[in-house]
Amino acid sequence: MNRSIEQLLEAHSLRKTTVRNQVLDIFLKAKEALAHSDIESHFEQVDRITLYRTLKTFEDKGLIHKAIDGSDKPKYALCNSGCDEHEHFDHHAHFHCDDCGKTYCLDEVEAPTITAPAGFQVASTHLVVTGKCEQCVA
Ligand SMILES: [Zn+2]
Ligand SMILES: [Zn+2]
Ligand SMILES: [Zn+2]
Repeated sequence: MNRSIEQLLEAHSLRKTTVRNQVLDIFLKAKEALAHSDIESHFEQVDRITLYRTLKTFEDKGLIHKAIDGSDKPKYALCNSGCDEHEHFDHHAHFHCDDCGKTYCLDEVEAPTITAPAGFQVASTHLVVTGKCEQCVA
């Protein structure tokens, strides 16, 4: 799949800005989900508020989703092309490596649909798989 930065921003009705371009570039090159600190480390200097807003905008517009991995550090990963500003369709599992702490999207593994007990209302379901990633197994 060949997704350029410009196509992605345009497809999600986002104006080009230097920070947006840079952040998107970082996500396109990353294999794993990224925490704020991971993204910050790519910049010599970046305004944290701007970075925070950029991630929020990307999430709202369906470009990135929270990769829930059971840790207390929020991480984000690029969405598949089906997400937009109305809805995310990232119902896949996330793999959290116990050794290196990296988190990966398992795009092919769907989180199950949960039937809650009477009186409970399900808002979201997150499937987290833990273990060793391929780099740590090797
Ligand atoms: Zn999404
Ligand atoms: Zn690992
Ligand atoms: Zn994911």
